This record gives sequence, C-alpha cells and structure tokens, in this order.
Amino acid sequence: MRIGIIGAMDEEIALCKEAMGEVTTSVKAGITYYSGQLEGKPVVLCKSGVGKVNAAVTTQILIDQFQVEQVIFTGVAGAIHPDLQIGDIVVSTDCLQHDMDATPLGFAPGQIPFSEQWIWQADPQLVKRAVEAGRKLDGEIRVVTGRILSGDQFVASREKVAKLHEQFAAHCTEMEGAAVGQVCAMNGIPFVIVRSMSDKADGSAHVNFVEFTKLAAQRSFEIVRHMLAAEEAEVIVYSTKNCIDCNMVKQWLTERGVKFEVRDVMTSRAWQEEVERFGFMGVPVTVKGEKAVKGFQPSELERLLES
Ligand code: SAH
Repeated sequence: MRIGIIGAMDEEIALCKEAMGEVTTSVKAGITYYSGQLEGKPVVLCKSGVGKVNAAVTTQILIDQFQVEQVIFTGVAGAIHPDLQIGDIVVSTDCLQHDMDATPLGFAPGQIPFSEQWIWQADPQLVKRAVEAGRKLDGEIRVVTGRILSGDQFVASREKVAKLHEQFAAHCTEMEGAAVGQVCAMNGIPFVIVRSMSDKADGSAHVNFVEFTKLAAQRSFEIVRHMLAAEEAEVIVYSTKNCIDCNMVKQWLTERGVKFEVRDVMTSRAWQEEVERFGFMGVPVTVKGEKAVKGFQPSELERLLES
C-alpha cells in the first residue's frame, strides 16, 4: 500500500525526506514529489505549500498520479483548546474549513453551500495508529484526538481563538488539513492529520510560531514514523469486550504466538460494516486476507492461519 505524506513547509517535510534516503523526484504543477520508502513502506512525500488550494491540488495529484491509498498530513498548528500547550499533538478526529462562511444566506458556519457534507472524518484506523504511535514518544508529550480547523488565515488573536472554540468545539487551527480531508473524502481515500502545536493562535503566535515550528514539526514527524514502523498484523479479530467466544479466539491465537489486531466493533461503525461485508452479523470474526471465520472454531481457525 502506497502512502502519501504531505507537509506544508520545509520544516514539516525535512526530517521525513532525510529518513527516506534515496528517492525518485518528479515535479507536477510546480510541486516536487519524492517517491521512496519510509520504515520499509512505500511512500510519496511532498511539500504542498501553505493554504487550502495548495493542499487540495497536491492531494489530488498524490491520488491520481501516484496512486496513494492513504494520506497522512504532518505539521504544526495553533492551539485552540485551552488545555493545549505548545508541543502537544492533535490527531484529527475530523476537520472543516472555519473560513467557509455563507451565513448571510442561512448556511451554518463552515458549511459548504448546497452541500450536506462539510465536516471530513479522518479514518478511525489511521487515528488509532497515530495515537498508538504517540504513546511511543517521550511521556511528557501529550497526544490528544480532536477537531482540526483549516482556513486561509494565520490566526493570531485571543478573541478569534475564543470564537473558533465556541463555534466549532475545535482543538487547533491551521491552513491545510480540511482541504486534504475533503479531497480524500471525494476520492474515497482514508486520511489523518497529525499536528503539533507551534503556538496558541494568540497575540504571541507570530513569535512562538518562529520559535517552536522546528520542534513541533519534529514531533509530528516522529508520530508518522512510528505509525509506519508499527507492524500491521496479518490477522484481525473483530470482537466486543465482554464476549466469551471473542476472548477464546484471542486466547487461542495468543497461545499459538499469532500476532493479531483487535477491532472492537462497538467503538466503530466502519468495523461493524467490515464484519457485515464478510456476510456475518455477530462477533467474533477472525480475518486473514480475504478469508474470515465466524465464532470460536479451532479447526477452521487452523485452516485460516495456514491459508
Ligand atoms: N512560512 C511562512 C508562513 C507560515 S503560515 C512563515 O514563516 O511565516 C503557518 C503555517 O503553519 C501553515 O501551514 C499552517 O497550517 C500552520 N499554522 C501554525 N500556526 C498557525 C496559526 N496560528 N494559524 C494558522 N495556521 C497555523
């Protein structure tokens, strides 16, 4: 699976590029794309430039011309949530354009006129992987999930921060994420935005931004690196917390030293739908590749593992 990695500025892609080692370079629409490997995974890296239009164009090119199947944005942002400190990391649950404003026509703040959708959901599995990757960072660094706002504005006022927090219940604000999210959603490509706080989007933002961008960018990159390094388990067990058969399956796999990923269907509709796609209504469902076994059935599980 090829993964697209986007940053808006040099600082945001520098470490990634360095870690990729040898790359193939190509230029499209004035943007340079670096194809290569990161942590053994095929990736295409680019610097989109600042703002939503740049972000949208590069995302579409990554999808069309480089056939990426997932997109990760790594970069810095201004904190909106009062609990967030400079250096903390926000992994997007969803994102929207805070500067999309057709309220005089009766549309909601942020709503794209005549469109039912204007809030873009990040892929739950990528979010989970980013949060897990965050646990591998220095314990001092806080990693939270939340809403990310994007606008073609560098936000640097306490009043604006208070308004954005009140209007959108957001965690942070930046200038690209929602464009990446929208383009990915329009193409059915999973995405996640990982942002480390370079400033608090207040009166000191312009000073803090310059001072902390390098450190903050480094932190988001570390998450991306750990996300890619995390071994993807070959076997997935769709389950719920208190189901006896689910626990039997997990125990059975553990005894055989099989690495597996647990997906609690109560926490994600997407995972519930994945189970349904295999033609099952309940759990446990154990999946390897395209094959699935329902329930705790050791001989069938044995055959699944051999497949
Ligand atoms: N490189 C230019 C412009 C940076 S614009 C300079 O040095 O001045 C700010 C970039 O950081 C954008 O890519 C945006 O996504 C992010 N960002 C960080 N803090 C922000 C804030 N308070 N408001 C908006 N974007 C912010």
